[in-house]
Amino acid sequence: MPYNKDIYNTLYYKEPGPKLDKESPFESMMERFRFAAEILKLDDGLFSYLSNPVKQVTVSVPVEMDDGKLKVFEGYRVVHDNILGPSKGGLRFAPDVNIDEVKALASWMTWKCAVVNVPFGGAKGGIRCNPRDMSIRELERLTRRYTASMLDVFGPEVDIPAPDMGTNEQVMAWIMDTYSMHMRKTSNAVVTGKPIIIGGSLGRKEATGRGVVTVTLAAMNKLGISPINAKVAVQGFGNVGSVSAKLMYEQGSRVIAISDISGAYYNEKGIDIPSAMAYSQNNNFSMEGYTEADKITNEELLELDCDVLIPAAKEDQISRHNANNIKAKIISEGANGPVTANADKILDENGILVIPDILANAGGVTVSYFEWVQDRQGYFWTEERVNRRLNRMMRNAFHLIYGVMEEYNVTLRQAAYIYSIKKVAETLKLRGIYA
Ligand code: GLU
Repeated sequence: MPYNKDIYNTLYYKEPGPKLDKESPFESMMERFRFAAEILKLDDGLFSYLSNPVKQVTVSVPVEMDDGKLKVFEGYRVVHDNILGPSKGGLRFAPDVNIDEVKALASWMTWKCAVVNVPFGGAKGGIRCNPRDMSIRELERLTRRYTASMLDVFGPEVDIPAPDMGTNEQVMAWIMDTYSMHMRKTSNAVVTGKPIIIGGSLGRKEATGRGVVTVTLAAMNKLGISPINAKVAVQGFGNVGSVSAKLMYEQGSRVIAISDISGAYYNEKGIDIPSAMAYSQNNNFSMEGYTEADKITNEELLELDCDVLIPAAKEDQISRHNANNIKAKIISEGANGPVTANADKILDENGILVIPDILANAGGVTVSYFEWVQDRQGYFWTEERVNRRLNRMMRNAFHLIYGVMEEYNVTLRQAAYIYSIKKVAETLKLRGIYA
């Protein structure tokens, strides 16, 4: 399997989604932040502290391409804060990544870590490139040079990257090696999402999808929906989507639709997910040509009559243009930002329970935390222990945020922001401002 195909298809595949309104991700985040800050009566100083990242680094990354030509890529790392602990967040390789997006994603990581009670601050990185058009050696040179430029930013006690869209465990291994070479010692806790053999954690790959399913089941329980035979639609069949679909299938749910770059596939009787996963793997990570279901569009998938919709592909999928057509009772955000701030209100008015990204997909960073703990202890856990602890942390977080939702009479998303902002602000007050 050529690396550059695998890297996109096995991770968070960027699908050509419906042409909806593209809200600035930073603005979307800020709108939600502002709302929670008002409820909490956050003072102006704290508000401005928490709305600005503490560090934004942009670097030019020169790479000698295979044809001998020099190409310069732009790389970013934004540390939103390190109030609760070292900053943590993924590294994204995508052609359209930009500082605005990375800034928004970095602050999302702050709230995400706070929601699941993981002792990290928030960060995010990105390199503007198209990994699908690059060879494995070009990607290696790109990753190593970027890491070398970020030596003052990264560190096991400072800032810890992880995989995100367009990056995978091989990229993490290169980061770990480059950093370790410079430090003159093997430093595997500098990055998470590594291959198991060099200090990765069992269960990390499936963690995001597993966490999505844990909170989805908890939400279904609250609404009195049994997972047996419940109708589930999953957008995106990458790492998060396929694992979520598989685990819902194992719960006895009917996964009536899945999708990937090639389109969406619908079968009212339910799709046999293990066989669909095998089909995709044997077909160059594409569902193209799958005959066990009818082909529909990604837009149609979102509007299917179902109990649970798991958007696990990309951002801005449900906006004010289609929010009124959504029929699911629960939306569980496997991706970061699949529902725009404009759509939040419509979905709420229509009585749809949205499990926000900063809660729903926090399983990834939770097991990243476990990986970091294991690396620092040099003692590795069984997969059973990882999954048990992950499930417990996700369930606890869900019930905690659900309680805040009831207490403040807000949406689950607003509750997640209220809880996390309050926690970070209180910690900041205790730590005080170093002058
Ligand atoms: N990129 C993932 C996220 O958005 C994981 C981050 C991490 O594990 O640090 O949550």
